[in-house]
Amino acid sequence: MSVKVTRRKFLQTASLAAASIPLAKVVAAETGFVKNPFTPPGSFTGTQTVTGGVCEMCFWRCQLVGKVRDKKLVKLEGNPKSIDNGKSICARGNAGIKLLYDPDRLKFPLKNVGERGKPVWKQISWEEALDECGARLKAVQEKYGSHDIAMFPHGASAKYPMDFFEKVVGTHNVSEASFFQCRGIRDSAYMATFSVPPDESVDMANARAILLIGCHFGENVHVSHVKAYLKGLENGAKLVVVDPRYSASAAKSHIWVQIKPGTDTAFLLAVMNYLVEKDKYDKQFVAAHCVGFSQFKHGISHASLDWAARICDVPARQIQEVAELLAANAPNVSIHPGRHVSWYGNDFQRVRAQACLTAILGAIGVKGGFVKPKGVKVKAISWPKGEHGGEHNLRLLADLHHYSPPGTPTELIRDACISGKPYPIKGCVIWGQNPMQTIPNQQKTVAALKQMDFVMCVDIMPTDITMYADILLPEPCYLEKYDFIKTGTQWNFADKHQQYIAPRMPLVDAMFERRDGVWIMNEIAKRMGYEDKIPVASLEEKINKELAAVNLSIEQLKKEEGIHIQDGKDPYGVAEDLEVLLYSEDLEENGYPPIPTYIPVEEAPQGYSRLVYGRAPVHTFNRSQNNVWLHQAMPVNPVWLNDEIAGKMGLKEGDEVGLVNSDGITSSSRTVVKVTPGIRKDTVYMAHGYGSRNPLLTVGANAGVDDQELITRLAIDPETGCNGMRNNFVKLVKDGKVLDIPA
Ligand code: SF4
Repeated sequence: MSVKVTRRKFLQTASLAAASIPLAKVVAAETGFVKNPFTPPGSFTGTQTVTGGVCEMCFWRCQLVGKVRDKKLVKLEGNPKSIDNGKSICARGNAGIKLLYDPDRLKFPLKNVGERGKPVWKQISWEEALDECGARLKAVQEKYGSHDIAMFPHGASAKYPMDFFEKVVGTHNVSEASFFQCRGIRDSAYMATFSVPPDESVDMANARAILLIGCHFGENVHVSHVKAYLKGLENGAKLVVVDPRYSASAAKSHIWVQIKPGTDTAFLLAVMNYLVEKDKYDKQFVAAHCVGFSQFKHGISHASLDWAARICDVPARQIQEVAELLAANAPNVSIHPGRHVSWYGNDFQRVRAQACLTAILGAIGVKGGFVKPKGVKVKAISWPKGEHGGEHNLRLLADLHHYSPPGTPTELIRDACISGKPYPIKGCVIWGQNPMQTIPNQQKTVAALKQMDFVMCVDIMPTDITMYADILLPEPCYLEKYDFIKTGTQWNFADKHQQYIAPRMPLVDAMFERRDGVWIMNEIAKRMGYEDKIPVASLEEKINKELAAVNLSIEQLKKEEGIHIQDGKDPYGVAEDLEVLLYSEDLEENGYPPIPTYIPVEEAPQGYSRLVYGRAPVHTFNRSQNNVWLHQAMPVNPVWLNDEIAGKMGLKEGDEVGLVNSDGITSSSRTVVKVTPGIRKDTVYMAHGYGSRNPLLTVGANAGVDDQELITRLAIDPETGCNGMRNNFVKLVKDGKVLDIPA
């Protein structure tokens, strides 16, 4: 019997998340509560349970146990003792085994005897590799100065090396993708508004209403966070989702605002103006904690419902409905700060608007609102800080980006590399990051790398960026080593007030010639003449010393199944001296809008559609591309195309296509079309983290399309220097023919 799925029925019922994944797998990934969809058949009798694992298939770092047989890890599970993820791990967490035993992983130190970008690899000894790294970095430092070394770090193992280059070597030119292409704007905008970095600190489990601006939980999976979100919904929280696409979250929403991309700030201003005009804001909270309310009120008074409706291409009554819903449920409202918020180069204003809306609803420090529970602070053992002035900081030299996150904006580094001004940058250390798939405009990254005197990469897998290394060093993965100490609190803040400390401990021994980041960095530091500065001899010693400061040790943690739990503090309440800057003199003095302001973005040229991207529940961007289980679950990243537009273009579901952008860049590989009513007509969407061009990845190379390849237009957020990532427009290419996307 065939079932006719009408457009309306589809929109009512379907979750379009991960369109190519069987439903059972979507549900598994979406909830994180069900059995591992990838569990191989067979039993696990005769296995030994090893505790103390901490996942790093994504940054959330769920606590794990491993089932080990004959020194081989055969299964991963959530640590039942965890008060964070508990027994649950997501599909990617389960598939960590396939990363551990991936035959394509880096195994030995390698030297590139070919060209950067077209490497020819020669296996060399650690001695030779370290000598070359030490000597060539030292040569750059002596010839040009310490600031002429740039570093691109990512992940737990890059922290110790990053500190070495910043504190001991003395370069400011460190650029973390997690700041400059992801969440840096969010942290800076909240800090500028109420001096608290937000993380993902909203109490969704106890909210009466949740507002998501572009967040797509279910596709974006962090286990305890998704638990809190689902708990909130289960308790009856009203969900508002603002997204041009019918995401997994939109499918669960009470109100889906199918907004025109780039106009979210106008939407937020209209909501706030309506609340102020109708006297539906929290007067008590505003009087007690908010600065500049009268300037704020005046400054947003132009943002009528009709004004925003025209800009956002949504009905005025829907904006009103959202404002009424938030007011009716205030103050127990979770306005999610977002995570990957670098979109259009004007994002500081949007995120500041989210922070201001949170404040005028009084949704700070209350159940269901913005709440930042206090975990235990474990201070990292680090390198001693040398005597380095700030005179070479590119941001200060250019007098730009006064609200920049820590480090140096990526664009300033690349510009200096290419122009040699204000000084050359000739040494490059890339540690766990893949700037080819994180930073817009790959041609510019290649130009920056090609002019370097020396490039070294440290990673666990071959990636697009490792193809540009002169020396490539292999690290153990997160299942094979001690590392980062994860701390946090009970996932449901209202439930119990508990804190935990969970250092990463190995579940199995490292194989081949992989060496951890502390060992590698210490050996290079010795060769650069900094032996006397080395703070710890090994990663294990580092973790033990850090634990000793909170009266714990690795030995003790082993006895406690990998997790130490202690009483925590009630996270609710507002500090008496909390100040929320609705109007900021500091922003004004530095030449930025003092109240949240809508800054329009460029419209798509005729025949093009805006390219937006997001996450898939079974992939974590670049990190999981070559994972065979995850690849089987979602082998390519379909391009979502509105069904009416597809009809006009003569395209149907599953057609194979490439993409070309308005700068003439064509995708190197192809994907398939996902024909759906669940996306605006002026927008196409893909999951990020596909289409690697490294031929050493036997699973992930050329699988799907690398959306980053198409992101060539640069839009830099003036306050922070972060890269906007949704400023490109594309057409589709089928059978070699470029197809216009009708207006
Ligand atoms: S959310 Fe999934 S991938 Fe991320 S740390 Fe947890 S189990 Fe690992």
